[in-house]
Amino acid sequence: MPTFLSIDLGAGSGRVIAGSLVSGKIGLQEIHRFDNPGTDLPGGSFWDILGLFREIQEGLRLAASRFDDIVAIGIDTWGCDHGLLDAHGRLLGLPHQYRDPRHEGMPEKMHALMPEPELYRHTGITTNFYNSAVHLFAEKQLDSPALKNADRLLFIPDLIAYWLSGKMAVERTIASTSQLLDPATGEWSWKVIDAFGLPRRIFGKIVAPGTVLGPLREEVRRATGLGGVPVVASASHDTAAAVAGIPMEGGDQLWLSSGTWSIMGLETRQPIRSDAAFAARCCNELGVDGSVRFLKNIAGLWLIQECRRQWALEGADLGYAELVALADAAEPFRAFIDPDDPVFSAPGDMPGRIRDFCRRTSQCVPQSKGEVLRVATESLALKYRVVLDSFRQLSGKDFPRLHAGGGGIQNAALTQATADACGIEVLAGPVEATSCGNLIVQMIATGHLPDLAAGRRLIRGSFDFQTYQPRQSGDWEKALGRFRGILA
Ligand code: ADP
Repeated sequence: MPTFLSIDLGAGSGRVIAGSLVSGKIGLQEIHRFDNPGTDLPGGSFWDILGLFREIQEGLRLAASRFDDIVAIGIDTWGCDHGLLDAHGRLLGLPHQYRDPRHEGMPEKMHALMPEPELYRHTGITTNFYNSAVHLFAEKQLDSPALKNADRLLFIPDLIAYWLSGKMAVERTIASTSQLLDPATGEWSWKVIDAFGLPRRIFGKIVAPGTVLGPLREEVRRATGLGGVPVVASASHDTAAAVAGIPMEGGDQLWLSSGTWSIMGLETRQPIRSDAAFAARCCNELGVDGSVRFLKNIAGLWLIQECRRQWALEGADLGYAELVALADAAEPFRAFIDPDDPVFSAPGDMPGRIRDFCRRTSQCVPQSKGEVLRVATESLALKYRVVLDSFRQLSGKDFPRLHAGGGGIQNAALTQATADACGIEVLAGPVEATSCGNLIVQMIATGHLPDLAAGRRLIRGSFDFQTYQPRQSGDWEKALGRFRGILA
């Protein structure tokens, strides 16, 4: 059976997943899972890129021992981070993590050279501390020897693909997270690159997702036992892969990638770079098949993950299903938080912070675990509604349905609350949207599928999907009024 390998790297852990085509369906198997610990050293916070590559090779070795018809390999990762290479293709130092403090103070300096609204008009991306533009600008300010000697910039999935195949290319979806790309052309924005004094030579050819790079290098074949399997530049940004993996039909669809972070967006054809879109701090990233992902990052299941971690420290080891049941049993609409308030962004005592927020905003203070979880769940759903309303305004369009994928859709209380708060149907699935998207791009690239629509139909027919209809609209509308009141 033809099998495709999806290498999915998150900022906390990585996986190698095999997707096999069996009787007209995709069957997924996790082959290898590993941690992706960043390390703080003198001079910065770094990724252990060699350790990651070793784990990837181990995953490929395990896959080679289990499957005899491996057709292709594709990589997707978190956004923004990159490596710099010299003219001989040697990596110049460890890639920094996007949370490396070198970003501090840089946005102000950048905006003195090009004001943020102008930057947004060129790139469709607001300035965020994690953007590659900010980190490259920091390297320039710090007179970094790596940048001085660099001949090529590769984003993390491009770098892994290069080490696997020996072929260098910059894939478009990951490049579109950098704040250095023009989302209308899908090419580098030289105006922005020049304004920041970045060396033009490092910005190489951009390729579309689904470009076949070439077969595995001889050394990788020996290390893994795989033959000359082609490496595909898949949808290399994990959100782009997740959106490709959520089966939507027709234009201008509303989607939610629900995981540790929630990303809500529109799949559309043209970037939206209006002043109102800038004011709403929405970003235009690029997707598969020439699509634009017009999106907004929202705090996601992180809130619930951190509650769970805190309670485990206090001796109560609760599974996610138990947490959902506790939230379900608690009284509705007691109090709300703004999930995106900076007080919730760092790891820590999340239940305590939720209580503090409610106290500070003169609301009922949730006491039990169920009450705390109910506040977090309803507030997330209401935040999705606020973002949906802004998308309606910014695009001038309405949306009959929200397509939600990712691990977070397993939280049925939140998914139902999302339908209720948004007042529209939620079609939930698949849980493994990112791997699915990565896999179908490879299938298209190798001629196993004709196009994205066929890939999405394949996903629709391969996994369980749940439809959540909206309920109790009156109560939720009242809650929305109160929720807007507590937003900063
Ligand atoms: P990431 O974005 O880190 O890849 P996932 O897509 O795996 O995250 O989603 C992780 C989140 O999904 C968890 O924080 C948890 O809240 C939620 N989740 C995972 N499994 C379940 C489950 N069985 N029931 C309810 N929620 C779940």
